[in-house]
Amino acid sequence: MGIATRTFATILACAAGLVVAAAPATAQERRADLVTGSIDTRAAPPVAPQGPVWSGESGASGDPSMTAAAIRAAAANFHVCLEGLWPQAARRGVSRRLFESATASLTPDLRIMDLLDAQPEFTKAVWDYLDVLVTDARIAKGRELLARYERTFDAVERAYGVDRYVIAAIWGVETNYGTISGQKPVLRSTATLACIGRRQNYFRAEFLDTLEIIQRGDIKPEKLVGSWAGAFGPTQFMPSAFKRYAVDFDGDGRRDVIDSVPDMIASTANNLKKDGWVQGATWGYEVVVPATFDFHLTGRDHAMSLRDWQRLGVARPHGLAFPRPDDKAFLLVPAGIQGPGFLMLHNFRVIMRYNPAEAYALAIGHLSDRLRGGASFVQHWPRYERVLTRAERLQLQEELARRGFDVGEPDGRVGARTRDAIRDFQAHIGRVPDGFASAGLLEQLMAR
Ligand code: CA
Repeated sequence: MGIATRTFATILACAAGLVVAAAPATAQERRADLVTGSIDTRAAPPVAPQGPVWSGESGASGDPSMTAAAIRAAAANFHVCLEGLWPQAARRGVSRRLFESATASLTPDLRIMDLLDAQPEFTKAVWDYLDVLVTDARIAKGRELLARYERTFDAVERAYGVDRYVIAAIWGVETNYGTISGQKPVLRSTATLACIGRRQNYFRAEFLDTLEIIQRGDIKPEKLVGSWAGAFGPTQFMPSAFKRYAVDFDGDGRRDVIDSVPDMIASTANNLKKDGWVQGATWGYEVVVPATFDFHLTGRDHAMSLRDWQRLGVARPHGLAFPRPDDKAFLLVPAGIQGPGFLMLHNFRVIMRYNPAEAYALAIGHLSDRLRGGASFVQHWPRYERVLTRAERLQLQEELARRGFDVGEPDGRVGARTRDAIRDFQAHIGRVPDGFASAGLLEQLMAR
């Protein structure tokens, strides 16, 4: 997946092995999920509250605008660049007075350049990711908040038709119910990214949207703090997402997704509704996948009805039935045959529009079920498996290629082509061809 710009949750999502990217600028690039095609290359370490200073080094992306010299040059030109955005700000109704007061003493936060191009060596297994985000404490706190704001949730469900448990889960996963959120001023972050680095076009709009929010008076500038990419509030709205989805639900005339719980809950619901949430339907089901299953049928491109999946032997544990067997779903098998499978319904895709990471959406879905009173997954994860490091993924690709399995150009990312090559290798040695890249698989490969 791409850059995880928002929160601890997203950072983890990006590090989780199974995450696959959505296209950039899909329904929403809202949270600056600067998706590049594979999750494991761009996640950033959590930012300390005071934040270290810029490393002074060139970014790992190799983008010409991310060299240390280009960053220094752009930083020196920062105010000229911002001033160049004034005509666009004026067209959006931003006053000259506000523009000047907002930008006059602004300095770029170059530390963000390190975060924009961070490439972690280690990735997190999906089970570790879920362990961190779906805890007893987070379930208990979520239930407490659902009870405390019951009337608000009642009213929001009536108005938007979006499941309260999913909204509460987003609140819990994004920021641990508002307790872990960034402290960087949104105006400074978006201004920095608008004028420096490799995503300037995208962030210019975010910067201008930030000015508009301040101009309208929805949120006071000093309250507008968040992640290094500019996502703010307990459910992490990017400025552009705020513009599209924020609503004033408590009726005070301001859309305040930071300090008004009713506004925050309703705005998040409105977001999911506008993204296509199907009222009364769930996100997906844990399923048991038979060892004889054709694993080429996994993934988002292979949707069919739950009934058809059942015909292929994919079933819920304990013989439970699918309540709506004609609903379309796709199969996700994050840890291969040794872990649980999941049939994902339309609402799972809606959650992925909020944040295009499969591990993220799975965490949201599972936490929502737990908040509702549901149980843990029935099947175990292969916790004995170690997720490959970046160097090992590259090694895996090179070794597969050396043995004649087509991985394309080795790039250290396990995409569809690499998974196909893994399946071919597994079939070749008589294993279940599930395409799961693990340390165990690399050992099997090296033993050949
Ligand atoms: Ca309000």
